[in-house]
Amino acid sequence: MSIKGTAIWEDTVERLQFPALDSNLEVDLCVVGLGASGLRAVMHAAERGLKVVGIDGGVIAGAAAGRNGGLMLAGTADFYNDACERLGDDRAAKIYQHTLDEMAHVVPLLEGNVRMTGVLRTEDTDEGLAEAAKHLAALRRDGFPVEAYDGSQGQGILIPTDGSFHPVDRAMRFAQLATQMGAQLFESTVATDVRPHEVRTADGVISARHVLVATDGFLKRVLPALADGVRQVRLQMIATEPDAIDLKYPSYTHFGYDYWQQRPDGRVAIGGGRHQVKESEFTDDDTPTRELFEYLEQRLRSLGVTAAITHHWAAIVSYTDNEQPIAREVMPGVWGLGAFNGTGNVVGTMLGRALVDQMIDGRSQILSDFYGE
Ligand SMILES: Cc1cc2nc3c(=O)[nH]c(=O)nc-3n(C[C@H](O)[C@H](O)[C@H](O)COP(=O)(O)OP(=O)(O)OC[C@H]3O[C@@H](n4cnc5c(N)ncnc54)[C@H](O)[C@@H]3O)c2cc1C
Repeated sequence: MSIKGTAIWEDTVERLQFPALDSNLEVDLCVVGLGASGLRAVMHAAERGLKVVGIDGGVIAGAAAGRNGGLMLAGTADFYNDACERLGDDRAAKIYQHTLDEMAHVVPLLEGNVRMTGVLRTEDTDEGLAEAAKHLAALRRDGFPVEAYDGSQGQGILIPTDGSFHPVDRAMRFAQLATQMGAQLFESTVATDVRPHEVRTADGVISARHVLVATDGFLKRVLPALADGVRQVRLQMIATEPDAIDLKYPSYTHFGYDYWQQRPDGRVAIGGGRHQVKESEFTDDDTPTRELFEYLEQRLRSLGVTAAITHHWAAIVSYTDNEQPIAREVMPGVWGLGAFNGTGNVVGTMLGRALVDQMIDGRSQILSDFYGE
């Protein structure tokens, strides 16, 4: 059987389609990049009464937002105990709570395609288990739900407030809601030049009071001012035919490098392995590789999954040297959002919403807490 190079999510959802921009527009906000982060900003801006347009150079959720593992995790890319060390207990707790609040906003919008079963962090080394114990202790100390886990899926901790979802379905629902709220969306519309109050595309110029660039893996390409300390990284996944195994909990392991979920139809999607081949994955080329396929296949089989592999895909995300996401004004009226260090499903949408509040109100509690300002 030939293996598809597209994400499993593309097979199981009906895509909405949007035209390309072919005229000039004048709006309050132009969002460049319609992954989930950009779409959430579009929705929130429309909800708050702004005239908003969103453009994507490809299709909606054609990049990481539609090709990821579908884990919905509270907090940032740091484990909670590491976040406490890096940011201080108070700031880490506030950020964690903001991400829980973001999930509480989004989950009802995804009814039928989100499962808040809890997510496992398992580890199979003494070092990993010791770190998982610190992770548990820090969450418990600060009153966030967490349980020790020792069962058929390994040993570690269960975070009952986390869950999994269908990434392309989420984006389609966001797009539908955004248009129902009056936003205009365009696909196949590349921003060729972004400057204060103006976004240029091949067939139209958008004049905007605010511009929000939400292009995670391609952030520094669109906003070269953000290039310092930002690295593009390829992440890869494979998926299978339905399998009889019951992986009740979506999981991540090996310090979060490997992660998987089993879909309700029995298919398993698993990603990771970057720790095996670090340097080759610092790239903007989203072609999946044989080396990672072999690693992921072996990882999949170690879970007991025997079903045939049907998909192997990759997408590009951005990492920062200081491991903090970017959500800030880069030029007057031009805001950059991205570089979620590989864990942007919740943080990305939360910061997209926060930036819109910052533009409208001149402040956002989320941004103040996030950046400790
Ligand atoms: C394989 C993989 C697995 C992952 N698993 C998880 C996970 O389980 N949990 C988690 O939290 N995170 C995960 N992530 C990370 C997460 O997917 C991303 O952080 C998040 O989806 C980023 O979404 P976004 O909307 O900010 O950006 P993107 O989805 O990258 O969207 C950016 C959009 O900008 C568009 N664009 C780029 N340049 C231009 C331009 N010049 N003009 C117009 N449009 C442009 C692109 O076409 C794209 O649609 C994973 C990522 C990958 C790749």
